Amino acid sequence: MIKKRVNIMQDEFSFINNITPKKVKQRELICGIGDDAALYHVEDDYDEVICVDTMVEDVHFANETMAPFHIGYKALAVNISDIAAMGGIPLFYLVSIAIPKDWDDQAIYEIYEGMTSIATKYDMDLIGGDTVSTKGKLVISVTVLGKIEKGRRLLRSQAKPGDVVFVTGNVGTSAAGLHFLFERSRNGQFSEVEKNLIKTHQMPQPQVKAGRILANSNCRISLNDISDGVASEAYEIAEASDVTIIIEKNKIPIIQQVTSIQEDQPLQWALYGGEDFQLIGTMAKEDWTMVSKRLEKQGVTASIIGKVIAGEGKVFLQTEENLVELKKEGYNHFK
Ligand code: ADP
Ligand code: MG
Repeated sequence: MIKKRVNIMQDEFSFINNITPKKVKQRELICGIGDDAALYHVEDDYDEVICVDTMVEDVHFANETMAPFHIGYKALAVNISDIAAMGGIPLFYLVSIAIPKDWDDQAIYEIYEGMTSIATKYDMDLIGGDTVSTKGKLVISVTVLGKIEKGRRLLRSQAKPGDVVFVTGNVGTSAAGLHFLFERSRNGQFSEVEKNLIKTHQMPQPQVKAGRILANSNCRISLNDISDGVASEAYEIAEASDVTIIIEKNKIPIIQQVTSIQEDQPLQWALYGGEDFQLIGTMAKEDWTMVSKRLEKQGVTASIIGKVIAGEGKVFLQTEENLVELKKEGYNHFK
């Protein structure tokens, strides 16, 4: 917990000093914050995996929906999710932050506390970043470095006709939480059920454990994380693999607390709402029994939601009545 207050843009040195981790978790790290660049060494039998994601105030979050702590938590979580979708282990992160004049220093520290909170879960080290001021909105860009055993990475391009399509956990939950945040803002009164949905939106849980089990299963698996919604992520797999995906409406795992909200919304939230940061993928039907058992044994829920057939890179939804082609997009909630 950082208590000391400095004016960040006036005394960047103290700020960096305050956010520098006191302990190193990963033995691969040679040199973290404090030099011109960070230095680390990953063992020879691993490939390195790296990703970056940027969140912009009033585009990806707003004061009404996210406390500073949540902004930090989520900015790191979404990147860990990308590492999970490759089957990897997250190790390090770097943070580039553009701070508007009217943002309180305390709020900036709370953003870092949010990041530390999820970094601790995965023994990740903060190893660098950049601090600038801006006349615009707050922008936070997080880079995550990780590793994956050579040859084990899970790509989107591996789907084949005959595969089953699966997702981990449940979907549409984050968008349902956001629905309540828009309705009452984050300081409003919420029931316990609503609070849980909101938490999924503010503090998404990347599926690293699931990604690791899948990577270590030694099966041909295509994998993607759900940032933009089931439809858009399924499209990415379908296009990368040059196959058609059919999703069964009745099999999409939407929790009862979400389905009970409104008639038509839950399905839309699951397909297009996004930000659940669950994993979606495909594997051979024969492998599913073994893999799903392994997932279940380790407390990861996963379910089959459809199948892969030969055809162009498209996604269809099978309803009780008919087969409808899904749209490729997710939607921007803050437009
Ligand atoms: P340089 O001029 O070499 O880029 P900086 O003064 O920008 O150095 O940064 C000093 C050290 O602090 C570097 O190790 C850098 O990675 C780290 N750093 C700077 N800003 C941040 C930040 N917002 N979050 C984490 N680390 C940071
Ligand atoms: Mg710099």
